Amino acid sequence: MQISDYIRDVQDFPKEGIIFKDITPLLGDKTAFAKAEEILYTLVPEVAIDVVVGIEARGFFYGPLLAKRLNAGFVPVRKPNKLPYTTIKKEYDLEYGTDVLEMHSDAIKPGDKVLLHDDVLATGGTAAAVAAMIEELGGEVVQCNFIIELDFLNGRSKLPGKHVAAAITY
Ligand code: AMP
Repeated sequence: MQISDYIRDVQDFPKEGIIFKDITPLLGDKTAFAKAEEILYTLVPEVAIDVVVGIEARGFFYGPLLAKRLNAGFVPVRKPNKLPYTTIKKEYDLEYGTDVLEMHSDAIKPGDKVLLHDDVLATGGTAAAVAAMIEELGGEVVQCNFIIELDFLNGRSKLPGKHVAAAITY
């Protein structure tokens, strides 16, 4: 069994021209769900990780599982006005327009070794914005870890000098 068998392509979602990588078949199958966790965990370098940072919303499925396996904490990065305490924000470019992500200002301690996790690396704008926030708080991004990398969009170019790893590459 390959976990890629459980990724469903949805044409023109959320808008025309996008082929959306739907991970819900993977999440819903007990064997594939566990296998993906194992693969994502195996990708992590042998460095003591302090916190896993997961990006709303699909970074919240495996982020906490990885944190548990790594004996690390979990930090959610959220869309604006969802986090209750003091936040730092980062605006980043989308295909059309911009978006903002937030994290709590005390979520990362200076010197923390951080694993950044999300479901898909596409153009890299999201992960780059989150990496910048982690570094603003004094954290060190040990790896940017994804279920899926869309290699043809060259998201890695937005993450220069970062270790990037993905369970599945298209
Ligand atoms: P980007 O900033 O372009 O790397 O986009 C990454 C974010 O958008 C991730 O949080 C993904 O969940 C989502 N995303 C972008 N493209 C896709 C896609 N083709 N399928 C599923 N999610 C995507």
